[in-house]
Amino acid sequence: MTTRGWIPFEADDAHVRRERDKARALRQTAWWRAQVARGVCHYCGKTVPPGELTMDHVTPLARGGRSTRGNVVPCCRACNQAKGARTALDDILDSLPPPAPGDAPSPPLS
Ligand SMILES: [Zn+2]
Repeated sequence: MTTRGWIPFEADDAHVRRERDKARALRQTAWWRAQVARGVCHYCGKTVPPGELTMDHVTPLARGGRSTRGNVVPCCRACNQAKGARTALDDILDSLPPPAPGDAPSPPLS
């Protein structure tokens, strides 16, 4: 099995449900409205009408992220769709060169 580009994980459904409820509450706060009012996507930096910005979890809920101010950013729909359940670390790992023939194999994931 290759793990390149994807790390297997199993979402904790109870966690995801609880954090989705918290996200709903967070969207009603003055803090979130101020984030959206800037009208700028966190990822691509484009100016977007505030009504088209979505709440993205930097560490996705499905991967243990929480609905806290430190983990949510406004982003455009295109960036949100492209990101899915990925994290910034996934992008860094994908940017690394593939192992050269003869490189020592990575230790197995436990
Ligand atoms: Zn964007």
